[in-house]
Formats: sequence, C-alpha cells, structure tokens
Amino acid sequence: MSLFSGVEQAPPDAILGLTEQFKADTNPRKVNLGVGVYQDANGKLPLLRCVEAAEQRMVATPTAKGYQAIDGLPTYDTEVKELVFGAGSPLLAAGRVITAQALGGTGALKLGADLLRQVSPEAKVLISNPSWENHQALFTRAGFTVEKYRYYDAQTKGVDVDGMIADLRAAAPGTIVVLHACCHNPTGYDLAPADWQRVIDAVVDGHLTAFLDMAYQGFAQGIEEDGAVVRAFAERVGSFLVSTSFSKSFSLYGERVGALSVVCADAAEAARVLSQLKIVIRTNYSNPPTHGAAIVETVLGDPELRAQWVEELGQMRDRIKQMRTALVEGLVAAGVQGREYITDQVGMFSFSGLTKEQMQRLRSEYAVYGTDTGRICVAALNEGNIAYVSESIAAVLK
Ligand code: PMP
Repeated sequence: MSLFSGVEQAPPDAILGLTEQFKADTNPRKVNLGVGVYQDANGKLPLLRCVEAAEQRMVATPTAKGYQAIDGLPTYDTEVKELVFGAGSPLLAAGRVITAQALGGTGALKLGADLLRQVSPEAKVLISNPSWENHQALFTRAGFTVEKYRYYDAQTKGVDVDGMIADLRAAAPGTIVVLHACCHNPTGYDLAPADWQRVIDAVVDGHLTAFLDMAYQGFAQGIEEDGAVVRAFAERVGSFLVSTSFSKSFSLYGERVGALSVVCADAAEAARVLSQLKIVIRTNYSNPPTHGAAIVETVLGDPELRAQWVEELGQMRDRIKQMRTALVEGLVAAGVQGREYITDQVGMFSFSGLTKEQMQRLRSEYAVYGTDTGRICVAALNEGNIAYVSESIAAVLK
C-alpha cells in the first residue's frame, strides 16, 4: 500500500482534454473550436503590436529580477483600477477600492473566493446556468456550496431574465452571486442595461454579494461600453468584487495577468481588507510574477501604446463579429436556416444550439471540435475554415 494507492483517476479537463484529442487527430481539415482563444484571420494566436513594443522597451532597459510586492506592481494596480472603474470614479477618489495583481482571471477569482470564505464562511455561491465550467469547481474547492441561477433560455435563445431575477430574489442574504460582466461564457448572451438594473435591485434589496467576472472587457461593444456594468454597480452597491483577466484582451494567455478589485465601504475598511487579501496571496504564492503585468502597465501607461491597444482590441472584436455573420451565411448556403441568433451573441463564443450527440458527430466524423454543450469558439473561425465548418454543422443537423 503506497500513500497514493487509494487516489482515483480524475476525469480529464473537459476543454483541455478536447485539445489533446484535437492534437492527436490526423484529419487534415481538423478545426479546434473548443478552447476559448482568439486567433487571427490566418488561424494564428496574435502577438499584439502594443505588447511587442512594450517588451522591446523592457528589453532596452533591463531590470534586475527582484521580488514584487505581495499585491503586485503598484502602477499596474492603479492602471487596472482606473480601467475597471473609470479614472474619475468617486470610489477611487474616496480610497474605497483595493486592487491586487492576480494570476489571470482564474487567479483573481480564487483570491476573491478565499477572501470571501474567510469573511462569509456560511454563504452559498450562485453561478449562472450554464456558466464557465471552472466557476463551479473553483468555488467548490474554496469550500463553498455552489448552486445555479437560471440564465439561458433554450426556447427563446436568450437570457431568462425573469427566471434569473426570481432566483436572485429567493437567495438568502449574504449569498455570493457570480455574474459575467460581459461576453457570457458559454452562451454569448449578455444582459441589457435595464436588466442589469433589475439585477442590481435584487443585489441591493437582498443584501447579496456580487462578484463580477470580467474576462472579456472590450470584446462585446468596447472597453468603455463593457465597463459600464461595473460602473452601474459602483453607483448603487456598497461592496462588491471584480475579477479582471487580460488573457484575451492583450492576448497574454500564458503570462497569467489579471487582478482582483474589492469595493469597500470606506478607505479604512479597504485598508483592512487589503491586509487580509495580502495574507491570502502570501500563503498561496507569496507574490506574483513581474513580466506580464509590466507589459500591461507599460501599454496602459503610455498614450501611444494604449491607443494602439484600443485599436488592436477593436480589430479582434470586429473580426469575431464578421465571423458570426459569415457563419450564419455559410449555414444558409449549406441549407440551414434560422440561425440568425448567432449574430445576437457577443464575445468569443456561440451557443450553437447543437445537441451533445451532434457535437460528438461533428468531432468524430468531421474533426470539428467544440464542447459537448454545443459551445463553439467563433474567434477560431477564419476564411479558410468557415465553409468547411458550416458544411459540417449542416451535415450533422440533417
Ligand atoms: N472567467 C471566465 C468567464 C472565462 O471565460 C475565463 C477564461 N476562459 C476566465 C474567467 C479565466 O481567465 P484566465 O484565463 O485569465 O485565467
């Protein structure tokens, strides 16, 4: 008997497992629409020009590799805060927001989860049905009971806003509600501004703790427009959390750049919360890595590089929108009508409406890889694969 002889084999990660399967597939026409990664018109992961320029500047002025502060690069934290809440935000002026650098959006969610577990150990967590798979796993691992609120309505192909509000209103005070700030993953359906006000009403009336997950700022309408949700909360909700990811918006997936922001009642409370958050960080990985955050800090802090970033992010957003239209057209050309809803969705993903069996056939017969839930990554479509993908989808729908 060894120490680990009783350890069971865990199932492979649903999405990363799909990538393994894709890599092993020998079909020359294979297309990976499984993982949420933006690819350019040539099917390549882009290196943004603003990122390259920032790195060149960093190389030109080499620095020694010291430890960072526990909560990360101070200028980075300030830049992120201003990006998320708006530079003129009264909350920032009042010192009510703390922001700590985190290991991507996932790291930010985990820091927030660990902090909340300490503050509200009895609270339940509510996530959308469906949600990004890791929400359930991450909050469960952090010790919470995780339940779901209604979100996607398969009949109307949209958000079941009334169902969502009813579920939020039924939640006990203190319940932690994880909300996708924009570009809902996996459905691609976001709430309209008036719906957000109803969510905020439910959060305020029910004394719920909102945790906004902002993994795709700039991919729906624009950086400012997508940030409006956070500002709407800032106007009416006393304390809430925001996780930020720059994996997609800067195409910095492997650098693990993100941040956790916590809105507190006043500056004194914010200082106490930060002191506890630092313990969460210190006992997990001591302090974060430098390189990725230094890139983002350089770009956000330089007007020219920042303008370039805004432009490049806009190009990614526009290309995805073009691919949505092209997919609908490709499906029509292949004899599939009634899929216009694909262009109503925003962000990297489309809930294609295909069943698990159809998604499996798409994989095994056509080497087109999406998740069993019917989610496909529109950001991986391009002129070279769209006709084949449309025809393959049409074939499994017949
Ligand atoms: N939240 C959501 C909704 C996501 O889709 C993702 C990325 N797939 C994350 C968080 C995590 O972001 P990161 O890759 O920066 O950890």
